Amino acid sequence: MSLLTVKEVTKSYKSGKIAVNNVSFHLDKGECFGLVGESGCGKSTLARCLLRVENIDSGSICINGEAIEKLSERRLYPYRNKIQIVFQNPSAALNPRLKIKESLLDPYEQFCSSLKLSYFSYSSKEQFVRQLLDAVELPSELANRYPHELSGGQRQRVTIARAISIEPELIVLDEPTASLDVLSQKAVLILLTELRKTLNLSYLFISHDLAAVSQMSQRIMVMKSGELVDQFDGEHLSSQDRHPYTKDLVSIF
Ligand code: ADP
Ligand code: MG
Repeated sequence: MSLLTVKEVTKSYKSGKIAVNNVSFHLDKGECFGLVGESGCGKSTLARCLLRVENIDSGSICINGEAIEKLSERRLYPYRNKIQIVFQNPSAALNPRLKIKESLLDPYEQFCSSLKLSYFSYSSKEQFVRQLLDAVELPSELANRYPHELSGGQRQRVTIARAISIEPELIVLDEPTASLDVLSQKAVLILLTELRKTLNLSYLFISHDLAAVSQMSQRIMVMKSGELVDQFDGEHLSSQDRHPYTKDLVSIF
């Protein structure tokens, strides 16, 4: 069974803009599925729909076979800890008034009643925070700092540590390296690949950057103006069977 099954999902905004138009795909446990497309094609809207931050107009979203698009907030709760998201801009994702350790503890404290951790262990707050920082290769002394006292790359590692802290099944990575310099981008992509294997995570890796998507993903899908125009195994990226729009993306990469 797929971890995530998206069927004919459409999402429009009040302005009338159809941001996601009849999109269907499935994501298997343990895989990294890449989503590529130019700015404004609807990638982040789709991501927000998967997390039920936005409600969809029509279609269905199933996690482990259960349709979540209509669940009440109370019935949605057991699914909330199965998916986490990492955004493009870590500065906006971290509360500037909280120390790093406080931000790191936040998801665990929210979900602890329904969590069974298998990789991390929670015997004390300090030890838990140390494990999380260690997992993303940050020194433990950062725990007592505030976000503005970290580099952009370090801040993004903190948001990744926070996302993995509750051992979700799926992490939606929405342009996770777009705000970083080239060296930090490379290092964060390597870290994400290692974490996926170590923690048996699945990723939906979203980027406008085909090079990053093809480096990370076993399968790739391509969005254009709200529609999914192509889906294929990563090794078939340059095949003649690709959609003309995918060929355009390949030709400039
Ligand atoms: P991407 O992440 O691929 O850059 P988005 O999902 O952010 O694309 O945006 C898709 C389209 O929906 C764009 O035309 C954008 O202007 C529009 N859009 C995004 N968010 C909103 C919103 N909250 N209200 C109205 N339109 C929006
Ligand atoms: Mg976006």
